[in-house]
Amino acid sequence: MTAIDVLLKRHTDGLDRGAPGVPTPAPSLHLTVVTCMDARIKVFDVFGLRHGEAHILRNAGGIVTEDVLRSLSISQRKLQTTEVIVMQHTSCGLSTFTDDEFRADLERDTGLRPTWAVEAFREVKISVRQSVERVRRSPFVPHTDNVRGFVYDVQTAELTEVD
Ligand SMILES: [Zn+2]
Repeated sequence: MTAIDVLLKRHTDGLDRGAPGVPTPAPSLHLTVVTCMDARIKVFDVFGLRHGEAHILRNAGGIVTEDVLRSLSISQRKLQTTEVIVMQHTSCGLSTFTDDEFRADLERDTGLRPTWAVEAFREVKISVRQSVERVRRSPFVPHTDNVRGFVYDVQTAELTEVD
């Protein structure tokens, strides 16, 4: 039995009745959260979020990539969000190797170098600042007055704002 099979059984056994109390795809807090895919981050719990309140965009690192800017553009232009949280975290996998190492591994194993940047980092605060700045400077994201960056400590649950 695969993990997917397990989840399909949980779905069948569960009582998910959708979200009838959420009448619109537009988040009620007009907020988007960009964060890492790390399984330790309970993003709804970190901010006390409820269903329907925010868009959540996750990828390796919580990096503002071109695709995150694509989603932010749609989120703000079509679904009325105006604020952005960028939250990266301590002990991130992306701080354990370099772009060059990962790209060399891929090339060795597959014969191909990726066209995308790995976006590995050494200092998480610098990475947060870079991602925040990408949002602020994007011509496709109209609301940039409230874009704030944070580091979440996965051991203590402490949230620290990055200036
Ligand atoms: Zn991470």
